[in-house]
Amino acid sequence: MADQKRAVPENVAGNFFVDFTCINCDTCRQLAPETFADAGNNSCVSHQPANSDEERKALRALLSCPTASIGTRRKSKTQEVVADFPLTIEADVFYCGFNSAKSYGANSFFVRHKDGNWLIDSPRFVKSLVEQFKRLGGIKYIFLSHQDDVADAGKYASTFGASRIIHNEDAQAEPDSEIVIKGEKPKQFGDEFRVIPVPGHTRGHMVLLYKDRYLFAGDHVFFDPASKRLTASRRHCWYSWQHQTESMASLIGLSFEWVLPGHGQRVHFDKKEMRKQMKDLVERMRAPSQHWQEE
Ligand code: SF4
Repeated sequence: MADQKRAVPENVAGNFFVDFTCINCDTCRQLAPETFADAGNNSCVSHQPANSDEERKALRALLSCPTASIGTRRKSKTQEVVADFPLTIEADVFYCGFNSAKSYGANSFFVRHKDGNWLIDSPRFVKSLVEQFKRLGGIKYIFLSHQDDVADAGKYASTFGASRIIHNEDAQAEPDSEIVIKGEKPKQFGDEFRVIPVPGHTRGHMVLLYKDRYLFAGDHVFFDPASKRLTASRRHCWYSWQHQTESMASLIGLSFEWVLPGHGQRVHFDKKEMRKQMKDLVERMRAPSQHWQEE
């Protein structure tokens, strides 16, 4: 629970505050950009919510903060907002909320599908989400993009009898996984889901392509709102930047409109613009290292 005695000095006065336990994961800034801002090493409240819509978004951020670093000085309607999750992104694609500190606050997603639902990386194991997932028809597959974002996948797998999908090279993070992908060949699940190994960020990183429209990207690629372009993180590349670059190039020929990352901002472009953005990103990644600009 956030402690107002430990509130960061950058907060503006008012009901909401961020305290010193913040790990600067960006979740609150994605969910409520009107209220939260980057203060360098942590987030802060830069504007207090000005209306009920902004307040609801700020409360969603409070609930999703992986370290419980956001608090309110007055009693809030948090219980009412719990039921907002999972939040619809588009059609049957949802953002789960309740980001986990075990995955450094990574985003996780849920897809409702006639042949069985998918959880993409794992949120915290919380009762309200479990109930919502039951209401939406349970979970058939849990796609684990890489070793860092498994969080509570095991608990969700045993609750729903779901099959966890992970790459062999990252499988030590979830050794009991039911489906282990080997090598770099994509694997199709039904007509609409394709699991694609993209080594780079980690040796066994994978992305999931759904309906040739949604790319669940883990920590492979994300959107930088400041430069308004797709990017990747060289600083947080744990295995091989060269492999990550070539993995990125292998995605250029695919068709998708959404990038839904674990860390960093999601984005929607039409297919033409997305392909242009991907080509541009690969070109920048292939340039000599001194020219790479970390976003
Ligand atoms: S969600 Fe929590 S931990 Fe993440 S940046 Fe915001 S206050 Fe910090």
